[in-house]
Amino acid sequence: MSEPIVIVGAGQAGIKAAETLRLKSYESDILLIGEEKWPPYQRPPLSKAYLKGELSEDRLLLKAADYYDKARVALTTGSRVAAIDPVGHQLTFTDGRTQSWSKLLLTTGTRARTLPLTGGDLEGVFSLRGIDDTKRIGLALEAAQSVAIIGGGYIGMEFAAVVRSLGKQVTVIEAQDRILKRSVAPEISSFFQDLHASHGVRLALGEGVNRIVGADRAEGVELASGEMVAADLVLVAAGAVPVTELAEAAGIAVERGIVVDEACRTSAPDIFAAGDCTVFPSRRYGRRIGLESVQNASDQGKAAALSMLGEQTIYDPVPWFWSDQYDVKLQIAGLSAGYDRTELVGEPGEGRFALRYFAGDTLLAVDAVNDPRSHMMARKEIAVRDHALAA
Ligand code: FAD
Repeated sequence: MSEPIVIVGAGQAGIKAAETLRLKSYESDILLIGEEKWPPYQRPPLSKAYLKGELSEDRLLLKAADYYDKARVALTTGSRVAAIDPVGHQLTFTDGRTQSWSKLLLTTGTRARTLPLTGGDLEGVFSLRGIDDTKRIGLALEAAQSVAIIGGGYIGMEFAAVVRSLGKQVTVIEAQDRILKRSVAPEISSFFQDLHASHGVRLALGEGVNRIVGADRAEGVELASGEMVAADLVLVAAGAVPVTELAEAAGIAVERGIVVDEACRTSAPDIFAAGDCTVFPSRRYGRRIGLESVQNASDQGKAAALSMLGEQTIYDPVPWFWSDQYDVKLQIAGLSAGYDRTELVGEPGEGRFALRYFAGDTLLAVDAVNDPRSHMMARKEIAVRDHALAA
């Protein structure tokens, strides 16, 4: 009997790949290996409804408990892969066990970026990536009076919204001159800054951090300006880093993420990769890109499965993403990097509008605020535009 297809990383991309293999009538064994003790689950609610206590744990799971037996997907949780051998087609777990494969898919995701800060290891300092982080933070939040968030990206700002809804003091410390700067135009940052300010969040923009202060546990954050922000809970929300060390140690090409082609193939034969851990060539945007989104994990996981089965596959999506803060939903279609002008549709003052990003006459991206119709139309418009350009 042939060796199984082995998937390392039991997250959003890994489970989508396993599911696709079965839907495509792949008959041999599938082994899905995850380091966390949880079966595959969705992460977005961890900084939103689950953190607020509005969603139960079982609703986080991407598949019902009986799915794995029924679909004959052998799920191994709590097992970390320590090394892969591309030549011998074998991997080694941290406990020394080995496993052979016919094809290997790496869906190892990202980890939260850590900052080399004095006081970063104090009790009361957290990052947020997995269920266990949210559980720990949830407990600490019950006792906390004031919270400092280092980083004004999506996770930081969603966390700020939840903490304010619990009535705690919140300061967001952001080194850039505006929040969400990495992905949106000033108009969108400005809308969300006003929104958070109106809910009582203090924004410290253009501010560095000297250190986290405290004896045994966090008591505050000292800013580069010397100001002390009191906080008994500190969230470091400084972005995410692709988990690439297995690939790197095996001599597979890595450049920020694991480098794959449009068929999700790495530089090693029979080894594929998908999801947050990859960078891939986008014809649409004319460069290699890496995405951290449910859309990418799911769609690239599916593409990798088809590619492993030998189907002709070109993965070149219209990226999309969302973020929920208070009662506002931001939905992003496309990538705005490189835009030279924007066009506002609707009225920010009314809380419902869209911002369209162009390079010349080419529509690159649309950010829709409480406007799902504009978002759905933008996804179609960007896809059709590219189809027309390619024709
Ligand atoms: P993951 O889901 O991270 O899965 C990777 C898995 O691989 C992990 O379980 C990891 O433990 C495991 N692993 C790594 N190395 C090994 C090893 N050596 N051995 C065994 N297992 C290993 N996206 C959106 O589109 N919208 C949102 O609103 C949104 N909100 C988010 C909120 C939070 C708090 C977070 C953390 C993420 C959010 N995202 C959001 C991003 C989205 O969840 C990710 O893009 C998606 O989960 C990526 O899926 P993945 O399968 O690539 O990686």
